Amino acid sequence: MKIAVLSRNPRLYSTRRLVESARERGHEIRVIDPLRCYMSIAGHNPEIHYKGAQLDAVDAVIPRIGASITFYGTAVLRQFEMMGVFPLNESVAISRSRDKLRSLQLLSRRGIGMPVTGFAHSPDDTQDLLRLVGGHPVVIKLTEGTQGVGVVLAETRKAAESVIDAFRGLNAHFLVQEFIKEAGGADIRCFVIGNKVVASMKRQAKEGEFRSNLHRGGHAELIKITPEERSTAVRAARIMGLNVAGVDILRSNHGPVVMEVNSSPGLEGIERATNKDIAARIIEFMEKNGKAGKTRTRGK
Ligand code: ADP
Ligand code: GLU
Repeated sequence: MKIAVLSRNPRLYSTRRLVESARERGHEIRVIDPLRCYMSIAGHNPEIHYKGAQLDAVDAVIPRIGASITFYGTAVLRQFEMMGVFPLNESVAISRSRDKLRSLQLLSRRGIGMPVTGFAHSPDDTQDLLRLVGGHPVVIKLTEGTQGVGVVLAETRKAAESVIDAFRGLNAHFLVQEFIKEAGGADIRCFVIGNKVVASMKRQAKEGEFRSNLHRGGHAELIKITPEERSTAVRAARIMGLNVAGVDILRSNHGPVVMEVNSSPGLEGIERATNKDIAARIIEFMEKNGKAGKTRTRGK
């Protein structure tokens, strides 16, 4: 196959591993910086240009689009889709996953467990919003934050009100969420490919921290997940429309709750923690499914 990886940096661990694995399995693969792709959209013949020349046709594309370039990156991916190129994850599904509120709304409609979550615009509704999610302590999080930045634990009502006022003052969109205390600062990352959890790890927050992100000093351990956690992760990825996803789950008193579904899950943490060759599993998935013209997307 001829594969393009949309990634800003060929030296990133995940990008390197995907390139390595694809070459080992006999594919032609090239890393393309999405910000250097530009497009001609007119007249029955969608094209992509790259650094001064028209891009050679590829069969499939692996998007590794960072959160800070979601808009431009998904526009480039959509152009590949318009040309019939198979995307590992579709542009619409990636856009969906980047908005925590939109994701939770879609998941809740299908009965996926999640922390009780509230969203409100007016300061007049703050008191009732806090009541709605069960009162303090609450977690307040930006709808488009990543790596634990913009996720705050407010232990008292006063603290919650101050954080909410501050986010409002910055014109930021945020969710207010039930704090799953019993998770004990740990979450479970389930790595889904197709209809399977191919690997999972527990991430434990460092002492005195409730956020378990590896970027916030958390550390990863092996874990055995329950059948319920497994099916929750697979269903969540499917509802989001993602072929490959990192589904983050907390163990709550009311069963597994999904916190978020990541459309560009990192390979480094999970490969190191589990000693599994996840990159090869992704390339295998591409071999089975990555046929030209097979994308289902209509770009909406
Ligand atoms: P990000 O997308 O920035 O990683 P998350 O919503 O995943 O944001 O939150 C970061 C971390 O904070 C999670 O991995 C989890 O450990 C912790 N956390 C988030 N929401 C809750 C919650 N409602 N209850 C308990 N812990 C939470
Ligand atoms: N940097 C990536 C992200 O936060 C990977 C980390 C992870 O998979 O949690 O989206």
